[in-house]
Amino acid sequence: MDYSLPPMDAAPRPEDGTALPEIKTTLPGPAGTAWVDRLAAHECPAITARRERRAEASGTAQDPIVWERALGANVWDPDGNRFIDLTGGFGVASAGHANPYVLARVRAQLDELVHGLGDAFPSIARIALAEKLAGLLPGELGQSIFASSGSEAVEAAIKTAVMVTGRSKLVTFTGSYHGLSLGVLPASHYREEFRSPFAGLLHPYADYEPWGELPSLDPADLPAAILVEPIQGRGGDRCPPSGWLRSLRALCDRHDVLLIFDEIFTGFGRCGELVLAGTDAADGVVPDLICLGKGLTSGFPVSACVGTPKVMAGWGLSRGEALHTSTFLGHPVGCAAGLAICDLFESGGLLERARLLGGLMEEGLGRLQEAHPGRVGAIRGRGAMRGVEVLPATDSMTICRAMLAEGYLVLPAGEQGEVLSLTPPLTLTAAQWDGALAALGRAL
Ligand code: PLP
Repeated sequence: MDYSLPPMDAAPRPEDGTALPEIKTTLPGPAGTAWVDRLAAHECPAITARRERRAEASGTAQDPIVWERALGANVWDPDGNRFIDLTGGFGVASAGHANPYVLARVRAQLDELVHGLGDAFPSIARIALAEKLAGLLPGELGQSIFASSGSEAVEAAIKTAVMVTGRSKLVTFTGSYHGLSLGVLPASHYREEFRSPFAGLLHPYADYEPWGELPSLDPADLPAAILVEPIQGRGGDRCPPSGWLRSLRALCDRHDVLLIFDEIFTGFGRCGELVLAGTDAADGVVPDLICLGKGLTSGFPVSACVGTPKVMAGWGLSRGEALHTSTFLGHPVGCAAGLAICDLFESGGLLERARLLGGLMEEGLGRLQEAHPGRVGAIRGRGAMRGVEVLPATDSMTICRAMLAEGYLVLPAGEQGEVLSLTPPLTLTAAQWDGALAALGRAL
């Protein structure tokens, strides 16, 4: 079967998204600007935050860029400028934007069935993806609750933990990000301003410094679960020290508290493993519940919370009216994309590709750090999820803009925005990475 991953050493070609950037206009171009003005008239002003940054920089900044088309690692704006997406569309485009194999499976699904019926009448695509995930995930993780966004998958995990334990508290970590919907907002500690306007609505969860002393659990007032990203993504690509996750697992076991891994960012090849759960990078720890999203479909809004049968039994049997569902639960088209992505990992070489890219990134960023000792602090992360700590921290936006001017899309991460976050499509070619690294050197 042709899985259509362009080879790592592919010659740069726009036709398969492996080309280098091409900036034809002064950014933003006139067509892009016209689109942004239309957006400003009809979208809540809080949403496209980058518009404000452009104003701040009084004409010197170039964002936001409006996306017209994307393929592989390439993105085109309405002015015909071609960029390389080092964000991977927020870490989503595991197989590259518009991967031809994924699209073929999606088109076939569109011809069969576009919409299923939440909990009431399951679609074949949803059943097949649930089976596939059970086969791919470590340990006993084998029963899914599907959802549409990452936040919803985490909410499903939290609800499961409450059903299992009858308790309603959660332990979470400083710098963590689990989404911004009301159910997960109290658990997302990244950026206090995301939560403070809604404080009155939020259940106060205990938050601890990650990777440090373990949370102290009061046996008389135990939480339902400990929720952790095995590598913090938006928090700045922060990895735990070896052994920490194992100790966390032991703590949970001692107190009969569930352990939830949020692998929405780290999962599906991003960190050089299908998921970190069960691998050396997570001390071999398998959680009770794992949350997946982003790279699971490489671009379709389907996410999943997957638990062990023992844990999922905490919900009890459906009595005709599902206790948890949604209109688009396990959308057939998104599930078809998820199945295609699973194929690419199982037999299409995508995991090997992710590892190759992760190796190139580690090696290249090490050289960058040596070449710019006063400008680059720590290089963080794992696999194709890397963070470059910029010195001083306040310069990171300027560097993102300089990268944009050269045609590379980069976003800041970390609690002070001090980290350049690099999470490209796993299909990024060696030439594209070399180009990005050279641009980064110039920007620094
Ligand atoms: N969990 C993690 C680790 C994430 O990185 C994100 C999004 O960045 C989410 C959850 C929320 O996902 P979504 O934005 O799809 O709701």
